[in-house]
Amino acid sequence: MDNLEDLYQEIILSHNKRPRNEGLLDPHTEEAEGYNPLCGDRLQVYVRQNGPTVEAVQFTGEGCAISRASASIMTEAIKGLSGSALEAKIAEVIEMLTAKEEPAVDPFDLGELAALLGVRKFPARVKCATLSWHTLAAALKKAGHVSTE
Ligand code: ZN
Repeated sequence: MDNLEDLYQEIILSHNKRPRNEGLLDPHTEEAEGYNPLCGDRLQVYVRQNGPTVEAVQFTGEGCAISRASASIMTEAIKGLSGSALEAKIAEVIEMLTAKEEPAVDPFDLGELAALLGVRKFPARVKCATLSWHTLAAALKKAGHVSTE
């Protein structure tokens, strides 16, 4: 189990150091800003949809390693999804991070998303990991702003 945790840690650090899809997405069809007052993380998420399909997602902002890694992993995890599959993925990740019971997940199915599971042990950091996902949901709902408080 220690090895798996080391691997997760490495994935988080790697995404924080070299985030995928960081920067303003131009052009984009949706955007939202998310704020996590608990930690001070502030992210903007930009989405370009082609019909119902997410063609590209990028993010900008300032935040801790976990919030940035989560945003980076998210941009790769949701590309190409649309409609109910997209909604289901967002709901699944937020549920897996916030559910009281340890989630029954297949780490191989989850890919790098599994690395985010490590925050479950640190309740104060869970909102860092869910911020980008709430912000994405707000962008898709055209809600503009979201605060995790
Ligand atoms: Zn944070």
